[in-house]
Amino acid sequence: MDNGLKTGELEPALPSAQDAPGQRLCRVQARIAQALADAGRDVAAVRLLAVSKTFDAVAVRELAVCGQRAFGENYVQEALDKQQALRDLALEWHFIGPIQSNKTRPIAENFSWVHSLDRLKIAERLSAQRPAGLPPLQVCIELNVSGEASKGGGSVAELPALAAAVSALPRLQLRGLMAIPAPVADQAAQRAAFRQVRQAFDALVARGHALDTLSMGMSADLEAAILEGATIVRVGTALFGERITPDDS
Ligand SMILES: *Cc1c(COP(=O)(O)O)cnc(C)c1O
Repeated sequence: MDNGLKTGELEPALPSAQDAPGQRLCRVQARIAQALADAGRDVAAVRLLAVSKTFDAVAVRELAVCGQRAFGENYVQEALDKQQALRDLALEWHFIGPIQSNKTRPIAENFSWVHSLDRLKIAERLSAQRPAGLPPLQVCIELNVSGEASKGGGSVAELPALAAAVSALPRLQLRGLMAIPAPVADQAAQRAAFRQVRQAFDALVARGHALDTLSMGMSADLEAAILEGATIVRVGTALFGERITPDDS
């Protein structure tokens, strides 16, 4: 949006102008571009996934008209409602939340990607339920690098067997790994966690898996993730504002 200001002039006083969706999107894209430059990586090496959980279809549409195409959702019914309201737009939907086995069918039928695959039983159901007319479901295995029992994700030790089994499923395409490290303030600690994910990824590639996706980095730590090789960053708060629901894992 053109607000008539030139570089170096005063910021507009209205919070609504500062918080316009297009401006928030630009700021996040600039952060990604700067981190890629700092890492010496290609300008197009990272895709932005806009995490729209708890925000309504109107908010998603505002970002979509600014050019954002890929959206991430955590809750199945909430996502289906938004997809229905936005079916006139060519959006790409990614499921990134915990997956209950009784919810696999709507996920297999209505999403292009799943980032939060953490056990074989779920993978088998998603593959069996993926409709024949759609491309294979693009999946990442979620890795629990923080070792927190409460968090989703498989362990590094289980990863080779899980990756081999997922790769053998006909209607899934294994693209890489996803991780949500425990939040830490300093960038060195953020990078150490992301490096573990990167090393697990490299180990799978060394075993012969053709992988291209490291889904890691959120609003608070996307720079650290990009410095460690992220190819998809999942950003909610920096695009949509603070979530007001208590459940904002
Ligand atoms: C909510 C969520 C995000 C976005 O987090 P922000 O800190 O709001 O950017 C990313 N990934 C997953 C899996 C999430 O649940």
